[in-house]
Amino acid sequence: MFENIFIENSLKDHPRVESILSRFKNSNVKYLEQYDNVWGRVKKPYLAKRTNLNLFLANKKGQLVKEAPNAYGVKGERHFYFIHAFNCIYECKYCYLQGYFNSPDVVLFLNHDEIAAEMKRVLNQHPDETVWFHAGEFSDSLALSHITGELEAYWNFFKQNPKAKLELRTKSVNIKRLEKLEPLENVYASFSLSPESATKQIDLKTPPLKARINAIAKAQAQGHKIGIHFDPVIYKDEVFEEYEELFMALSEGIDLGAVSYFSLGVVRFTPQVFNEAKKNYPDSDMFAAQFVRSSEDIVRYPRSMRAWILSKLKDSLIKSGAKEQRVYLCMED
Ligand code: SF4
Repeated sequence: MFENIFIENSLKDHPRVESILSRFKNSNVKYLEQYDNVWGRVKKPYLAKRTNLNLFLANKKGQLVKEAPNAYGVKGERHFYFIHAFNCIYECKYCYLQGYFNSPDVVLFLNHDEIAAEMKRVLNQHPDETVWFHAGEFSDSLALSHITGELEAYWNFFKQNPKAKLELRTKSVNIKRLEKLEPLENVYASFSLSPESATKQIDLKTPPLKARINAIAKAQAQGHKIGIHFDPVIYKDEVFEEYEELFMALSEGIDLGAVSYFSLGVVRFTPQVFNEAKKNYPDSDMFAAQFVRSSEDIVRYPRSMRAWILSKLKDSLIKSGAKEQRVYLCMED
C-alpha cells in the first residue's frame, strides 16, 4: 500500500512504529527529523495516491484540537475535532482533502496522549456543556484503526470523561478493533452512506454498500452507539428513488429507531476544492447541477434547491423508521 514509510527520528523506538512496520514489509523505510520537512513541501498531485502513496509516522505539533465550524454536528452542543491523521486511503471525488493539503500522502500521528491531554483542557474550559470530539475530519477514523491501534487510547479517555462525546466517522467496514472494545454510552461509531451508484462511481475504493450496512448491523448488535450520515447528497434525477432504496435496505439491515442520530447534507466545497475536484474529475456527473458561491465562501446548490432536496429526503428517512428528533441537517442554518 505504501511505497515509502518516513519516520520521525524521535519515534525510532516507539512500540507502535515497530508494529506498523511489521505490516508493510515491502515498503522502503526512511528516517527524518520532522515529517513536514518533506510532507507537503512540494505539490504532489492528489491523484498520485493511485500509484504512489507514502506514509509518514510523526508526532503532531501545534494545534491538536480545533473547534468545528457552526452548524457542524448535533445542534445546541459544542463540537471540536482532534487531529490524529492526515489523508485517507479512499478516493471520494468530492473529498476536500484534495484541495486542502499539498500532498495526498498519509500521516499518522502517534502522540495520542498529548492529543487526549489537549481534549481534557478543552473539556475543562466548558464544564457545563456537552462537548463533542470528532475524529476523522482530515482522514477516515476507522479505515486504518487495526494498524494504528489508537482506539484503545481514546477509549480510556472517554471512559474516564463521560461528559465528553466521541464520534468516529468512517466509510470503512473495518470494525475489527471496535468489536474488541466495550461499548461506551458516549462513543458513537458513525457511518457515512450514499446510494449504491454513488458508492461505486464517486466514493472510489470504499467498500460496497451492503458490506457497510453489515458492519453497522454488527456494531449495533454489539451495543455500540451508532450515527449515520447521508452526506454529501449529490443531486441527480433519480436521487429520491435511490435514497429511498438506500433507506429501505438500511431499515432491513439495522434497527433505525435505535440509531442515535442521522445527518443529511448536500455536497459542498470551498472554492479551492471545487476547482481542484473539477480538474481531477472533469467528466464527473457530480458537477451537472447548478452551484453557487455563498457569502460564507462555500460552493454548493442554491438555498431553495438544498431545502427541497433535504426536506424530501428527511421525510423519506422518517417514513423508513428514523426518529424525527434524531435527524439533523449538516451545515445548514
Ligand atoms: S472517506 Fe472521507 S477522507 Fe477519505 S477520501 Fe472519502 S471523503 Fe475523503
